[in-house]
Amino acid sequence: MVRIGVLALQGAFREHLTVLGSLGVETRKVTRAEHLTDLDAVVLPGGESTAMVRIADGTDLFPQLRRRIDEGLPVFGTCAGLILLADHLSDDSLGGYGRLGGLDITVARNAYGRQRESFTAPLTVSGLDESFDGTFIRAPQILDIGSDVEVLASHNGQPVLVRQGHVWGGSFHPELGGDARLHAQFLHHLGAAVQRLSHDSSASADAQRRIRIRR
Ligand code: GLN
Repeated sequence: MVRIGVLALQGAFREHLTVLGSLGVETRKVTRAEHLTDLDAVVLPGGESTAMVRIADGTDLFPQLRRRIDEGLPVFGTCAGLILLADHLSDDSLGGYGRLGGLDITVARNAYGRQRESFTAPLTVSGLDESFDGTFIRAPQILDIGSDVEVLASHNGQPVLVRQGHVWGGSFHPELGGDARLHAQFLHHLGAAVQRLSHDSSASADAQRRIRIRR
């Protein structure tokens, strides 16, 4: 059984748990380092990155999670989650708080405007047949990407969904709007990663089959 952890310090973690649950995978809320044991992937939700880094400050959670990501644990950060993963921020608004890093991008927080300027836009996502409605809420903008970073979707010429190997990040909220295709896509790629991590090809094939059926 594929088991996905969702960082549950703050923000839209319940919505991710619901979407992942609808895809037939086991889920676990992650609030402490010990919750990282035996996970096949982690999702970092949107919310408020300043709150997340403060809550995690002084604990072993982010250092341990970064270590697991470096070892190959697949991760998908959305909105505030993308901010946690970005190697570089355009300002130092998160001060001396530890983040995760791991994704070779530069991000500007809140660059799509205030809460009342939130919007939904149809996105052409690499690997999806039909467009995906991305919801942007005080979203971070990806200003720059490293050469190993693949752009999976753009909006107005700017990347909004990127992937660097097993590290995925999106500026928008894929868990809002009732469309599970992006999570399914992440889980689909995970098939190979699960195989690499656990050396258990039957579990991986089983997960892939389940995802196909429920799509
Ligand atoms: N503006 C938030 C931050 O900087 C992110 C917004 C979101 O996750 N919807 O953390």
